[in-house]
Amino acid sequence: MFENLSERLSGVFDRLTKQGALSEDDVKTALREVRVALLEADVSLPVARDFVKAVQEQATGQAVTKSITPGQQVVKIVHDALIDVLKGEGEPGALKIDNPPAPILMVGLQGGGKTTTTAKLAKRLKEREGKRVLMASLDVNRPAAMEQLAILGQQIGVDTLPIVKGEDPVAITKRAKTQAGLGGYDVYMLDTAGRLSIDEELMQQVEAVRDVVTPRETLLVVDGLTGQDAVHTAENFDERIGISGVVLTRMDGDGRGGAALSMRAVTGKPIKFVGLGEKMDALETFEPERIAGRILG
Ligand code: GDP
Repeated sequence: MFENLSERLSGVFDRLTKQGALSEDDVKTALREVRVALLEADVSLPVARDFVKAVQEQATGQAVTKSITPGQQVVKIVHDALIDVLKGEGEPGALKIDNPPAPILMVGLQGGGKTTTTAKLAKRLKEREGKRVLMASLDVNRPAAMEQLAILGQQIGVDTLPIVKGEDPVAITKRAKTQAGLGGYDVYMLDTAGRLSIDEELMQQVEAVRDVVTPRETLLVVDGLTGQDAVHTAENFDERIGISGVVLTRMDGDGRGGAALSMRAVTGKPIKFVGLGEKMDALETFEPERIAGRILG
């Protein structure tokens, strides 16, 4: 589907005279191709532009290594620079969930994969870290969403807060907090309501919930295939709610993963996990190397 960046660059360098060091012109020509590759991978234009500029400064004047071609060398420089941007501080996938019961707030737009990810993450915490997890759905507008979380909970053997009709999200949150404390849970996860677009009511609701629990982690779940929209969503949620990390879903799809780079570059928030399918096991720690490889094709 896409032309591989290495192939593209070897073509560029074949046309250039071989010299002892990467000249400014060589690097410029090569980075034009890099920019196209980034844009094809759905990296936003300003991010691609800034990234290429930084790499250009880094690459110009570098001695050409004998063992690899100039094209491969530029690819390596670009690859390393991508990883630098993509990796956040600390262990990938690490969550601040000491001091039980630790509240985790899950936020995002409807259809992004929030409920599925809540359950996947609960399963992971239970199985890999031996945590006792309680999940609660705050989506009072969509009874089906509450049912969905309860069904997933049964499937993975994780408790969900019993559904009480007529309660508002803040009341449910208070009940979850109490239940998590009394029940000896390590973690309680709050699956907030999603909307089709960001709206004031949704934000106020999430703010009210946040203020009841002071979440240890606030994870934004976004569809990784939505590119720029995912980045806007993250900016909005971060401004209003303050997010501690991002989960990119649908990374099993055809997308090239450029949203991950834009996300990191624009919001500065770590991408903690990626969703790789609908199954409950299809959640993995975010690995910068894998995404960098995918972006470069
Ligand atoms: P919510 O409205 O944000 O809670 O979204 P859901 O959790 O209900 O997910 C919406 C749909 O996306 C469901 O059919 C999920 O199975 C699917 N889904 C969620 N995460 C992934 C993923 O990582 N990959 C794929 N292929 N599908 C996913």
